[in-house]
Amino acid sequence: MSAVVSLSDWKSRADNLPFRTQAFIDGQYVDAASGKTFDNLSPIDGRVLARVAECDNEDIDRAVKAARRAFDSGAWSRMAPAGRKRVMLKFSELIRNNLEELALTETLDMGKPIRDALAIDVKNSAACIAWYAEAVDKMYDEVAPTPDSALALITREPLGVVGAVVPWNFPLMMAAWKLGPALATGNSVVLKPAEQSPLTALRVAELAMEAGLPEGVLNVVPGYGETAGQALGRHPDVDAVAFTGSAEVGKLFLKYSGESNMKQVSLECGGKTPNIILADAPDLEVASKAAADAIFFNQGEVCNAGSRLIVDRAVKDQVLEKIVEIGRTRQPGDPLDPDTVMGAMVDEVQMKRVLEYISSGEQGGASLALGGKRAREDSGGYYIEPTVFDNVDNDMKIAREEIFGPVLSVLSVDNIEDALAMGNKSNYGLAAAIWTRDISKAHKAARALRAGTVWVNCFDHGDISVPFGGYKQSGFGRDKSLHAMEKYTQLKTTWVHLG
Ligand code: NAP
Ligand code: MG
Repeated sequence: MSAVVSLSDWKSRADNLPFRTQAFIDGQYVDAASGKTFDNLSPIDGRVLARVAECDNEDIDRAVKAARRAFDSGAWSRMAPAGRKRVMLKFSELIRNNLEELALTETLDMGKPIRDALAIDVKNSAACIAWYAEAVDKMYDEVAPTPDSALALITREPLGVVGAVVPWNFPLMMAAWKLGPALATGNSVVLKPAEQSPLTALRVAELAMEAGLPEGVLNVVPGYGETAGQALGRHPDVDAVAFTGSAEVGKLFLKYSGESNMKQVSLECGGKTPNIILADAPDLEVASKAAADAIFFNQGEVCNAGSRLIVDRAVKDQVLEKIVEIGRTRQPGDPLDPDTVMGAMVDEVQMKRVLEYISSGEQGGASLALGGKRAREDSGGYYIEPTVFDNVDNDMKIAREEIFGPVLSVLSVDNIEDALAMGNKSNYGLAAAIWTRDISKAHKAARALRAGTVWVNCFDHGDISVPFGGYKQSGFGRDKSLHAMEKYTQLKTTWVHLG
């Protein structure tokens, strides 16, 4: 972006922003079959942003049928990989070309700071689509080491119709993590965005068409989880569901699959990431700053948020003081203000849930070191102060459950063994971090930590080239990297008898 757009400019642009509010099925924007809509509120001020089509069984069925027809036609599924690459590169470019509009939509819909929507969400979504586009015409199949009398091919085929169900914390980016590998490998997709944040997914559907994606290959069906999400999970003609969201709903998708057609399910669920700072961390200032970012970025609405800070008692006071100092400077502001670094919670329900966790921490005996209250109430929006609890016990609710808000639990330990045991004592295993200058300790910890990603002397680093996903109840299957393509394809063996 060239010049920084001011708060008042963003506000006036917001007033004139058109939204796509209908479902996108078989290449067309259409109302829900029932004609019903639901109110989509902005977390910034609580006002109604848009009335969005409320899809239900019938709409899901239409979308799945369109996706199946498109798949069977071969227009996309059998297009040469180089052809799919061209379309997806164009799709990525169109997302980039609409950076400001999409970022503004995301901020209004979800409440994250506009600076992050611009610098992170939309750019990474475009980059993700381009990355899979560029990969797909460089992938080879295999020939097995058979005896001379045979030839055996091991080929990868797309699954068919993929249901993608995504959450509201990074609405477009979580959709892109599914769409990139699913589309590149030739599948058709029915995407169900979160009810809180459907607008960017609805808009990019037409950008995909403009890029040349055939009709029916990408369908977007906004609606409620219990109805639209469940209908997709139970649909007999959906081959796979790729889900990102809570562990609770992830388990429902396993049940839907078992009770319907045994569709493949991959789950990217929650986390309670242990961020372990040992006394020999290379730079405690850097570690403390990273620990603050780890919990306050995106209002703490991050699946891998560093919500459990496990710190050596010898340096705890020093680290805590620094985090509190940083937290004070990160008070929530208007998400459309380019200087704001902490925005609004996605909705009133989520804000209340986080405030309940804060009361539970206070009642459970943890000491509140910062924040703890609702902020900016006059705005009509849903803001919470950066919050830090000291003297947390790993058995307390605030240390066990995913809060999904800007609430840090600080736990003190005396040695690395206790730190690792405490880190692993969780139902989740999405990510973990360890800060130490001792390379052997770092590697031993990385091996011992039961998590899909372990960061050493950093937090939340990485890019699209590495897999992301969880151990334990953080789910299974991986997003990002070439490995993500595994969950959208299946292997076929063709054994030819040569005689
Ligand atoms: P959620 O409530 O589990 O919802 C996720 C998606 O599932 C939404 O589209 C939702 O639709 C749908 N859904 C809800 N109830 C359903 C049901 N009964 N049947 C079928 N579908 C249903 O999660 P969220 O609150 O949107 O997002 C926060 C969660 O996502 C956190 O747990 C976070 O850790 C997780 N997350 C994980 C990752 C990762 O990569 N591991 C990344 C980001 C977020 P509605 O919105 O319409 O209810
Ligand atoms: Mg929800």
